[in-house]
Amino acid sequence: MGIKTISELDIAGRRVFIRVDFNVPLTPEGKVSDDTRIRESLPTIKLAIEKGARVVLASHLGRPKGKPDKKYSLEPVAARLAELTGEEVALTDEPVGDGARKVVSDLPAKAIALLENLRFSPGEEANDEAFSRALASYADVYVNDAFGTAHRAHASTAGITKFVGDKGMGLLMEREVKFLGKLLGDVERPFVAIIGGAKVSDKIGVLDNLLGRVDQILIGGAMANTFLKAKGGQLGRSLVEEDKLALARSFLKKAEESSVDVLLPRDVVAGAGIKAESGRVVQAMLVPEDLAALDIGPETARGFADAIARAKTIFWNGPMGVFESAPFASGTLAVARAVAGAAGALSVVGGGDSVAAVQQSGVADKITHISTGGGASLEFLEGKKLPGLAALES
Ligand code: ADP
Ligand code: MG
Repeated sequence: MGIKTISELDIAGRRVFIRVDFNVPLTPEGKVSDDTRIRESLPTIKLAIEKGARVVLASHLGRPKGKPDKKYSLEPVAARLAELTGEEVALTDEPVGDGARKVVSDLPAKAIALLENLRFSPGEEANDEAFSRALASYADVYVNDAFGTAHRAHASTAGITKFVGDKGMGLLMEREVKFLGKLLGDVERPFVAIIGGAKVSDKIGVLDNLLGRVDQILIGGAMANTFLKAKGGQLGRSLVEEDKLALARSFLKKAEESSVDVLLPRDVVAGAGIKAESGRVVQAMLVPEDLAALDIGPETARGFADAIARAKTIFWNGPMGVFESAPFASGTLAVARAVAGAAGALSVVGGGDSVAAVQQSGVADKITHISTGGGASLEFLEGKKLPGLAALES
């Protein structure tokens, strides 16, 4: 059982269906406001064209609820893609149907067709067999390059593969599997995981699976509050998941038993609320009643940075505080700089907000791998089999 890469597939002259992630943010006027995801798909698309394939692209955009909705048309995406590739891009009027069939069957070699938003059909998210067959009828070869949706069993990520002969992964997917896969194998030590963000419940799965692999776990963000409270701290008005205190306690116990060092904040930046114009540094276990912990404090940030500097393998998911607001961004930015500065280390960052923080701090090019999939990267590291990858095995 293995997964072929696009380089190993015979695609010259054939119709290659590439599932891409063009789920880009749009401006209120309906223009593409950030084309990162389109640009990230270019290497795979260009490779297919160079090899003489006829390229059929498919993606979802937003949540159009299973019916056509002009607001979520891929039209602006097709326009941007045409600019970026210098090729004409033929957008179909529906994801499947007579119009789409005609565009695809008339497609010359080295040309690009883009199916309209897959979620205009309810069959996409339902992983419906008839819809999967219709998509497969446009493909001689299937390639998945959309890691961000690989944790979903949808028609374009899973169902379709039952009805195509050749299948494999694109260059972007290959990179994700390579670097996230490294974290699950034998790594250079120390292996340090930095976990933050909003909720314990979102990340407890990955925390549990990392326990058996890492040497040290640094916990920050709102997540840390629940752990601090579980250890008897007074958290004032901080975000705490009261129903996860027992879970947090049992996690800390397991960590101790497996000799994994868990670092929690010693000081935090507290403020009246996320809109507060300033904060003040207080002890993490003793947050005043009228304040909330909104960032890790300077002493904690230094401690985390020291641990990160010693690491040889690093995984980071989840900001250390409300980094969207300047008074509470320092901890997250300090961690971003530390990860970027860890000389010779393999560093992987995943999660929409964490990736935004890395980009905000201008150090993205010093990170070994920035994952394009938040939920998908977490599920991968939880050790779960992603449906979109399982479907590519042959
Ligand atoms: P990612 O997208 O990287 O996986 P999450 O979505 O889990 O990260 O968490 C990011 C969110 O958590 C951000 O909106 C941030 O403002 C919020 N957050 C982080 N720390 C705190 C905190 N101490 N209190 C309230 N919100 C926080
Ligand atoms: Mg997020």
